Amino acid sequence: MWYKPMFISLAMFGLMAPAFAQQADGGVAQKNNPLLQQTVLPQFDKIRPEHFKPAIEQLLKENRAVVKKLLTQKKYTWDNLVEPLETANERLVFVWSTINHLNAVMDSKETRKAYESCLPLVTKYFTELAQNTKLYNAFESITQSDQYKNFDPVQQRVIQNELRDFRLAGVNLPAQKKQFFMKLTQRLAALGNKFDSNVLDASQNWSICLTKKQTQGLPEHALALGAANAARKNKKGWCFSLDAPSYQALITYADSRAVRKKTYIAFATRASDVGPTAGKWDNSKNIDAIFKIRHKLAHLVHFNNYAEYSLATKMAKSPTQVLEFLNGLVEKTLPAGKKEFIELETFAKKHGVKKIEPWDIAYYSEQLSQKKFKLSQEELRPYFPDTQVLDGMFAIAKRLYGITIKEKKDVPVWYPTVRFFEIYDAKGKLVGQFYADLYCRENKRSGAWMDDYKTRRLLKDGAVQIPVAQLVCNFSPPVDGKPSLLTHQDVITLFHEFGHCLHHLLTKVDYASVAGIKNVPWDAVELPSQFMENWCWQPEALKIFAKHYKTHEPIPKQLLQNLLASHHYHAATQMLRQLKFALLDFRIYLEFDPKKNNQLKKITDQLDKKINYLPIYKDARFPHSFMHIFSGGYAAGYYSYKWAEVLSADAFSKFEENGIFDQRTGREFLQNILEAGGSEDMAVLFKKFRGRDPKIDALLRQNGVI
Ligand code: ZN
Repeated sequence: MWYKPMFISLAMFGLMAPAFAQQADGGVAQKNNPLLQQTVLPQFDKIRPEHFKPAIEQLLKENRAVVKKLLTQKKYTWDNLVEPLETANERLVFVWSTINHLNAVMDSKETRKAYESCLPLVTKYFTELAQNTKLYNAFESITQSDQYKNFDPVQQRVIQNELRDFRLAGVNLPAQKKQFFMKLTQRLAALGNKFDSNVLDASQNWSICLTKKQTQGLPEHALALGAANAARKNKKGWCFSLDAPSYQALITYADSRAVRKKTYIAFATRASDVGPTAGKWDNSKNIDAIFKIRHKLAHLVHFNNYAEYSLATKMAKSPTQVLEFLNGLVEKTLPAGKKEFIELETFAKKHGVKKIEPWDIAYYSEQLSQKKFKLSQEELRPYFPDTQVLDGMFAIAKRLYGITIKEKKDVPVWYPTVRFFEIYDAKGKLVGQFYADLYCRENKRSGAWMDDYKTRRLLKDGAVQIPVAQLVCNFSPPVDGKPSLLTHQDVITLFHEFGHCLHHLLTKVDYASVAGIKNVPWDAVELPSQFMENWCWQPEALKIFAKHYKTHEPIPKQLLQNLLASHHYHAATQMLRQLKFALLDFRIYLEFDPKKNNQLKKITDQLDKKINYLPIYKDARFPHSFMHIFSGGYAAGYYSYKWAEVLSADAFSKFEENGIFDQRTGREFLQNILEAGGSEDMAVLFKKFRGRDPKIDALLRQNGVI
């Protein structure tokens, strides 16, 4: 459930601002390259890995020429520098996003190789740009001009962001150090990519095939998935890998403790030096190298550590503020978490478990939940066929924001099940578009994310560039002629990613570098996404999209009551889990010392002692698949989820006060938060919407902690 940035160096430096529409001059071969043909949407039906590198090389050549030409001018203005540079980069970013996206969702030997050959080139270009002293001085000179005083505040913000990003990329360093910074950045991008590939390979290349007896406890849905996997592999029985639907099914439902143990160990040791595939896709060295490089990068630009560097572009002001925030939440949540565990342990003991192990937690949690709330997640699935949930989610967005979402057919896609949607505003004007790739499959990276594919901007001729987003999930695909039936958790994930999409697509900002989610501080970017999750818990909203896929009946009253009663079930445990990850991530970057060894383990042990009351598997290697902080842009920023949750819970509490479909409150959220994008400080935007500063109470209440 996370927003995945396009790639690391863009996330680090902010986007230098994109797009010059220039003709390719590379002859016939280039003219036929679908990545270089200036279509509004990518020609996914024509793009092949062999097109990647020639397209990138061509665009980099053109962009370098543009930059060079721009810098021959005597006096710099918005129109002769900022705008044309944005135009040039926007085109490159669009093509690069396409390549990056295909690498994440259509992995193959060829795609991977072609992507890897482009990655250092693109990283080099953006670092070069961010370190270009002449360009920096040109931007700086605009701030000294009379023109600057007349800029609107958003334009001023664009320039100030750019200047900050130049400094964070080491623009003021001597040449040799700049070069070193560049090398480190390129190396970091390659390591992040390698980290992701290892996790994908380790997840896909492990499998377990079960006999009939071993499948005991598995719901019908999981059996269908396992049988389909077995058939594809020409094997007998029911087969599962470590992708999310497989792992969740086994760890939650398999009665066989041995099956759960085997699966848990494989999952907890993915891409590491231990476990069933020990050393094969091991991320240990990548982790060490990533820590070291980030530390060096931060040092080069005069920060004490990467945690401080990370905060330079965030809402939180200092490491102390972040640590106090996280530790404060731990303190408030710990008693409730311990109580939850004692109840679980007692329940497991009653069922003959002498000592509860990590592979028992999900299983007995589910059993206890079934007993307490008479609720089985599987019982809910038939009420959540994916298409109906999508339609309902769109209907909710219409009531809140007055927008209409329609599917558009015959748009080229990369896989037959991918769908494409268009968003129209209340006046019927097209404002945004997005692809939805919902099902898991081999060769697709795990998790769920939104990708900011194209950003809104006002073009020179007065036309508007329509923003485009990718909504990617890994739900169980339709099997046995049934539609894809989602769990309630899947529905929450879908609403979450959709919230990111709306933030990016409903923006009204005219400058790409601060439109949509661009330049929204990382610790505020999860506000609109977590905010949308709330509608998955409201009976009035569920009525709209939860209907049995065969009978179209709503969720029976009792089942609905049981679902709602379970809202805070193990919420403290979940919160503490997130807090532990957040503290681990932040502390390791804050305390990192290149001269010391095993710091990750030391901090993990300390946190386990302080926070964890759950059983621990001694060889677990969770960091080895923690893509958020090693490749996903959340380094020293995982705390952002909780930070933004304070904002999202408090924002939602206004809807609780006024009615969850209150039109006025919906429009206020639209105007003050969604449409504003990164054009103003989130603290200011939030206050405009809420009428006051954020309070933490709503978060604690919504998690059942107070
Ligand atoms: Zn997210």
